[in-house]
Amino acid sequence: MSIKNNIDQIRSELPEGVRLVAVTKYHSVEETEEVIRCGVDTIAENKVQDLLRKQEIIKTPVTWHFIGHLQQNKVRQLVGRAALIESVDSERILKKIDSESAKAGIVSDILIEYNLTGEESKTGFTEDQTQIWINDLPELKNVRVLGIMGMGPNTEDTDQIRKVFRQLSTIYDKIKHEYRYDNLEMRYLSMGMSGDYPIAVEEGANLVRIGSKIFSE
Ligand SMILES: *Cc1c(COP(=O)(O)O)cnc(C)c1O
Repeated sequence: MSIKNNIDQIRSELPEGVRLVAVTKYHSVEETEEVIRCGVDTIAENKVQDLLRKQEIIKTPVTWHFIGHLQQNKVRQLVGRAALIESVDSERILKKIDSESAKAGIVSDILIEYNLTGEESKTGFTEDQTQIWINDLPELKNVRVLGIMGMGPNTEDTDQIRKVFRQLSTIYDKIKHEYRYDNLEMRYLSMGMSGDYPIAVEEGANLVRIGSKIFSE
């Protein structure tokens, strides 16, 4: 299988309205360019340094997403360079993105990351913490929340995976219907990776983040 075959295969499985984001972390500039040649228009990286480096070299216009855990001291470099920061996993980082965006004179589009799997290694908000970031919104003039992002549990148990995606979907719908703010526009439910995106799509994902499956042999 080539990158092209893999992408065509994934595309054929995605219903209309589901956006494919290619995760190119661990892969070279050349491989990333190959993905873009295959018609993928959104590329995601999980390290600020990698995103900036690839952006410098790759001249084809493409949309860049950031999906990694973000450190406070890296926010300044990232703001204005990623079209969407999908991984806003704490109130502290949310406020930092807002203040750095204000300094840069821009509004940054972001997703709020949820962690419903309870895995220690993963960061993010729990359902109970929704009010924390919602309450901040009126003061945060330089961020715009476009939805939420989450990951399935690291297990083979598809019932468990489905359960988590269903919870994420419920949180997404609830926020969408209950809150009205100028800087809240629920557009993206980002969930599903190589191993679990078909389930995520069934549960309502409209943005999937796929890496290893694109590059598999
Ligand atoms: C690596 C990564 C992906 C893609 O995972 P694959 O299993 O390689 O498809 C998606 N989302 C996040 C946040 C990631 O870090």
